[in-house]
Amino acid sequence: MKITILTLFPEIFGGFENSSVIHRAIEKGIVEIEVKQLRDYSKDKHRHVDDSPFGGGAGMILMCQPIVDALKEIQTEDTYSMILSASGRLYNQSDAHMLARKKHVVLICGRYEGIDARVEKYVDDVVSVGDYVLTGGEIPAMIVADSLIRLLEGVIKEESTQEESYEDGLLEYPQYTQPASFEGQDVPEVLLSGHHANIKEYRHIQALLRTKEKRPDLFEKYPLSEEEKKQLDSYLKNNESES
Ligand code: SAM
Repeated sequence: MKITILTLFPEIFGGFENSSVIHRAIEKGIVEIEVKQLRDYSKDKHRHVDDSPFGGGAGMILMCQPIVDALKEIQTEDTYSMILSASGRLYNQSDAHMLARKKHVVLICGRYEGIDARVEKYVDDVVSVGDYVLTGGEIPAMIVADSLIRLLEGVIKEESTQEESYEDGLLEYPQYTQPASFEGQDVPEVLLSGHHANIKEYRHIQALLRTKEKRPDLFEKYPLSEEEKKQLDSYLKNNESES
């Protein structure tokens, strides 16, 4: 699979491409990352790509022409193109899975006050990586690229991506490693028991509890079964009586 990134700051991606998992995926030929300078598509002799907003207001807006020309040159019938924008719909884990099935993904990084709204007609999607405003689309493009690359076959062990946060609509259960006791905090006994069924049940309850507490919006959407409800109630009852 190939990822093409359109940006005014290609140098930002050097460290990203050379980092552990991403670097290995490139080395193994699983993914190709192509970073293109948007100014190379400007028709202006000074390589301008931005202008002031119609209607007035602060800052500069990236013009349609360089972006649309770049898209026309690089896209094929297998391309899925995305603008990174603070005003896009929220990107999530199922989008990462959807992108991981594409042959070619194009990520368009905005800068300044953003991109001329007419460019949206030329792309498949407009996404935001969170409810905050960043300086440019480069970090969001890395977020999207990283989230999809780690799902590609052969990049990391499949079982590592199966039990992660968001995969089943829940956050991941809490994880622990050595030592079993750290400054008065002990790892839950059940995790030291070697009893796989009990560990599995404990972790699932913890994932439910964590999601309920930290992400009530996700918990509300989760189809809680009668069995899970019973497990959760009994866990809470036992813990109340212990405290
Ligand atoms: N004026 C824009 C607004 O209020 O929505 C913000 C522009 S921002 C300073 C410049 C660029 O950063 C955007 O064009 C976009 O590419 C990127 N960006 C900023 N926040 C982002 C977010 N949460 N998700 C995705 N891209 C973002």
